[in-house]
Amino acid sequence: MLIFILNAGSSSLKYQLMNHATHRVLASGLCERIGIDGRIIHEANDLKTTTDVDFPTHKEAIEYVLKLLVEGKQKVIDTIEHDIDAIGHRVVHGGEYFNQSVLIDDSVIRKLEKLIPLAPLHNPAHILGIKICLELMPGKPNVAVFDTAFHQSMPACNYMYAIPYEDYTEHKVRKYGFHGTSHSYVSQEAAKLLNKKDSKVIVCHLGNGSSVCAVKEGKSMDTSMGLTPLEGLMMGTRCGDLDPAVLAYLMEKKNMSANEVVDYLNKKSGLLGVSGISSDLREIMEASAKGDTRASLAIDIQCNRIKKYICSYAGVMGGVDAICFTAGIGENADLIREKVCSGLEFMGIEIDKEKNKIRNSNTREISTDTSKVKIFVIPTNEEFVIANDTYNLTKA
Ligand code: AMP
Repeated sequence: MLIFILNAGSSSLKYQLMNHATHRVLASGLCERIGIDGRIIHEANDLKTTTDVDFPTHKEAIEYVLKLLVEGKQKVIDTIEHDIDAIGHRVVHGGEYFNQSVLIDDSVIRKLEKLIPLAPLHNPAHILGIKICLELMPGKPNVAVFDTAFHQSMPACNYMYAIPYEDYTEHKVRKYGFHGTSHSYVSQEAAKLLNKKDSKVIVCHLGNGSSVCAVKEGKSMDTSMGLTPLEGLMMGTRCGDLDPAVLAYLMEKKNMSANEVVDYLNKKSGLLGVSGISSDLREIMEASAKGDTRASLAIDIQCNRIKKYICSYAGVMGGVDAICFTAGIGENADLIREKVCSGLEFMGIEIDKEKNKIRNSNTREISTDTSKVKIFVIPTNEEFVIANDTYNLTKA
């Protein structure tokens, strides 16, 4: 089955065409600057091209991608109509409506529209992407795969904020959590490696956006992101956990509106804000190695936060069998993994420094032979989860 996977953002579109049976990606790419001017980076048949194309709206971008799949040097299929079987959409916010992926119909679209206030940047773009696919590829099944769905299993004591209960019932203010497809995939891979049904796993998804998740017996028990992806760990440009009074204080001191402060905490903070160098960890590690103290501080804050979450989640689950590292930083930055794990030997977490340094793109164990808790590096594959759920919901 060939599945077209779409991740529609406000001015961008990420896509893949995947053969579900073989996991092979036939084509992939990114349309950027939609509504501004337009550019497409497309890879197929071992050929990667970057082309400036005018994309006034998402529709022109998707039309262009579909044309590339069937025409020219990067052609990978004969016709859209016969060769694409289904479409899987990444959707950021499923609120409390969706605890699993779902086949899209009118009622699903209506629910996604109702959720726009909770994800004003993301859900409108996803709805647009869905509607365009329904128009350009009529009759094909479309599936929505949510970042939040995996976390719907959290108990109320973990998802409720300590504010008046009416804010939950009337305004749906609660922790939702994100990166659910990644946490679900990585924790399942870890459970297979542990060969234990009642496993307790902590997944550290550390990328530009980062979150930690406590997964007990395959279910999300708690996670570090909240109502929005701003809560929790320190990230590339996001502050993570913060005394909420900081908002009012900054509004007054810097003469900012509420929206401006939230934007500041989302886009100017985190690694970028503390280091003053970059949101990219590689640049910060380079500066730290040359003695830049703010770069070193940014790294220390990030590692400390991750460590605190690991300890508290082990407490919440009553123990932990495995710590998993995934995403850009988790998969590649041995320094971060070592700093996070060091000092946790009292919990039975012992990292093997040599194994940790080995670089490859495979799933691997990096704990010592005597470590009670396994430490794994597991490359995430969110597209595969989207393809798999789409397959399961649409197979005849
Ligand atoms: P992601 O959002 O999963 O693509 O991850 C992006 C983050 O991963 C950025 O902060 C990168 O600096 C970081 N990253 C990617 N490769 C490496 C590497 N080899 N060493 C350290 N950090 C890396």
